[in-house]
Amino acid sequence: MIDTLQVKITENSNPRLASTEFKDIAFGKIFTDHMFMADFEDGEWKNLQILPYGPIPMSPAISALHYGQAIFEGMKAYRLPNGEVSVFRADKNFERFNISADRMSMPVLPEEVFMQGVAALIGIDKGWVPTQENYALYLRPVMFATESSLGVKPSETYKFIILASPTGPYYTKALKVKIETKYTRANEGGVGYAKTAGNYARSLYPFAEAQKEGFDQLIWTDSATHTLIEESGAANVMFVLDGKLITPAVGETILNGVTRDTIIVLAKNKGITVEERKVTVNEIIAGAKNGTLTEAFAVGTAATVTQIGEIGYDGELYQLSESTTRIISTGIAKELSDIRNGLVEDRFGWNWVV
Ligand SMILES: *Cc1c(COP(=O)(O)O)cnc(C)c1O
Repeated sequence: MIDTLQVKITENSNPRLASTEFKDIAFGKIFTDHMFMADFEDGEWKNLQILPYGPIPMSPAISALHYGQAIFEGMKAYRLPNGEVSVFRADKNFERFNISADRMSMPVLPEEVFMQGVAALIGIDKGWVPTQENYALYLRPVMFATESSLGVKPSETYKFIILASPTGPYYTKALKVKIETKYTRANEGGVGYAKTAGNYARSLYPFAEAQKEGFDQLIWTDSATHTLIEESGAANVMFVLDGKLITPAVGETILNGVTRDTIIVLAKNKGITVEERKVTVNEIIAGAKNGTLTEAFAVGTAATVTQIGEIGYDGELYQLSESTTRIISTGIAKELSDIRNGLVEDRFGWNWVV
């Protein structure tokens, strides 16, 4: 796509590809033979390189470790039937990366560094893009502050790295989720719309508490009133209520997911009424009680569409419809999967063949 920057390449002399078993691969544990790296110093991005995946030397005083100036992205590369590799909607991830960077007082990353980094990494590790159905190569761009200084201020230096990790299908069991009314993921004026490290750190404790009660995941509510639904875990959440697809409107506390946006486009295209608005806990619970809530699911890059089977709220557990009856979400999930894998026409120009 872009071919203007010089990327230095150091090949891995001990490649692991041939000895890696892809079947039943756990999410995010195995990395490809290489990674992409660039440094921000003296106000510019430099030292663009591909190098063997592995540890990097760092000062223990880097500000990312102490004050959390760190952001990331997540996207996937798919194997097309003709053997080529395509990355899904990388332009959206790039855009969001800089929105996150801006909120965390980090430097803008030029589009060519992001895109060329992805292209160079896939170029050298193409053999790692799985060919099996429902498998993909997960790409993880990350930027973090590297200045060795304990002063609380934006770092002067940063590293941008892209890792790649082959992933298989997420488990398909419908989840038992708890509507969380004590802890929150995000708040007005905060950083919920940014993909920044601290958002995930703060969610671990409430998640562990919910797991102790037997839940698989949380549905977050707004911090002021706990009456509005925001997201599910680290994914956006959608419902089919009275035949309409409803989802919380994105804003300061709700991350603007690429999968969410994609599903909305596909749903509208199928003639389904979509409402992006405030979604109240009350209407969802009422719908679960009277049967008008026919589908509930979480959407994100890692798992695409994850069905929600049971919702816990205020000490009660509400059983939702069987996953097999959920024609809207399963239909859209299938269409999305077919587009990404090049099995149907890419009508919206979402696939970037690298
Ligand atoms: C990454 C993420 C999502 C999903 O975004 P996608 O672009 O669809 O992967 C949703 N919510 C949170 C909090 C996230 O971090």
